Amino acid sequence: MSDCLFCKIIAGEIPSTKVYEDETVYAFRDIDPQTPVHVLVVPKTHIESASAVTEENKNLVADCFAAIAKIAKAEGLDNGYRVVTNVGEDGGQTVRHLHFHILGGVKLSPKIV
Ligand code: AMP
Ligand code: ZN
Repeated sequence: MSDCLFCKIIAGEIPSTKVYEDETVYAFRDIDPQTPVHVLVVPKTHIESASAVTEENKNLVADCFAAIAKIAKAEGLDNGYRVVTNVGEDGGQTVRHLHFHILGGVKLSPKIV
């Protein structure tokens, strides 16, 4: 997607602080961190949101979660962390490329909202 911010980050057209990359997944630090560790994990393929996950692309979600486990370990989040994906307008999604927030480095409230 030519006008997608995260596609441009994955392509290196917009700078990011990379924390992880493999064949199908890219991860980088959020520009406006909400917690001491705030990493965004994205499939390299453009998928609009969790609502656009299909039989054809669902393995990319598993790839993201395999990456999340590695990143959490590398970031020292041994005591836990939260994974969040916002979907659409009411879900507060501002970038329309599927991404998983890894939030950690602090004890989070058990309440999500
Ligand atoms: P969401 O609101 O779930 O769509 O999350 C989008 C996230 O992308 C927000 O937490 C933003 O702070 C983050 N973000 C926006 N632009 C950039 C950027 N250029 N580099 C890193 N993170 C970004
Ligand atoms: Zn994209």
